[in-house]
Amino acid sequence: MAMVNIRRDVEDKFYRYKMPLLQIKVEGRGNGIKTVVPNMEDIARALNRPPTYPTKYFGCELGAQTSMANDRYIVNGAHTADRLRELLDSFIEQFVLCPSCKNPETELVITGKSGHEDMHRDCKACGRQNGVNMRHKLVAYILKNPVKKKEKGKKGKKGGMTAEANVGGPMVFEKGAEDGSGEDEDASPSGTPAPGDQGVPTTGTDIDDVLGRSDPVLGNPDEAEEVSKKLAKTDLNGGDDEDDEDADSPYALLGGWLEDNKDASDADIVNKIKESGIAGKYKVLVEIGHHLFTDEVAKEIDARIPLLQALVTSEKHQKGLLGGLERLLALSPNSDALLAAGTTSKVLMALYQADILDEEFVKNWGTHVSKKYVDKEKSKKVRKSADAFLKWLDEADDESESE
Ligand SMILES: [Zn+2]
Repeated sequence: MAMVNIRRDVEDKFYRYKMPLLQIKVEGRGNGIKTVVPNMEDIARALNRPPTYPTKYFGCELGAQTSMANDRYIVNGAHTADRLRELLDSFIEQFVLCPSCKNPETELVITGKSGHEDMHRDCKACGRQNGVNMRHKLVAYILKNPVKKKEKGKKGKKGGMTAEANVGGPMVFEKGAEDGSGEDEDASPSGTPAPGDQGVPTTGTDIDDVLGRSDPVLGNPDEAEEVSKKLAKTDLNGGDDEDDEDADSPYALLGGWLEDNKDASDADIVNKIKESGIAGKYKVLVEIGHHLFTDEVAKEIDARIPLLQALVTSEKHQKGLLGGLERLLALSPNSDALLAAGTTSKVLMALYQADILDEEFVKNWGTHVSKKYVDKEKSKKVRKSADAFLKWLDEADDESESE
């Protein structure tokens, strides 16, 4: 992995602070084109910031949507590596480097009461505290998604659906509050700056985070943490393949509840899933795909993207979601009209752009008729209705570039 100086204006090859050179991969095309930064986590670790911060910074500066689900850091639109590297430099300048001594070993510290926060860079090298531009859009994001101070001796989990997100509001550090918190354990007198010691990155699309943003129901950190943990377990629990198609299975009950509560908030839905004891199960997605939406699914899907990003954690979950949507579209009384209108393509496009569906997975889905969720004839029709999207994906593939 090519390493560069964190301060790229410093040419000294013995400069202590290194980070991986930012890489990009442009995927898709047209409206769905997006730029993935595959090594964002490694870069962020070198900067001792959560990977969501620089990604969000790119989004703010470029006026582009970002997606930070499942350890993939994406900026919508096609951007060059050079441009993103320049933006990373300015992120480092504004949110990492100490303006006094230009050292990158700093920590972002938030002080003040909710609504009146202040933020500064606390420098480990010279001890000075320097503010940040509080009017930068990224500041609002950081205040909503602060780095949680790590407890002593606790090893950080890397990426994924961390249960570490601080959902209870901004973490406020009093001056001196970090005394005795073991902050110097990794203060790296040699080589890279304190890698990840000063806090576990909060991942942008943690379930807590998603729900915290759209609804404060999960404001209780313990509760949210528990949901997050359960959701993170996904298929490890086994039992997913047991026969639970009965009318009183928790899945059927969830389906019925969704049918009656299509306008429930994301947080209510997650609570319901949790109460039902099926958090993390892929079959939850079958119910959601089938029962949360109506014939207007192509329009409704956008509002549920954060929920789906949080719930779809594996290929199996993707399969479940599409299975449910297949049922929705195939079993609707207006099925033929819906499919003729290309509804499947529109829905798949929205899910793909939000990085909920993988390219390989969805291609494979498109070419494999299955009678698992609906009969074969219907299954074929649903896939036919996805033609426009699948064709687009094939063409996009030819133009995709990688650096
Ligand atoms: Zn300093």
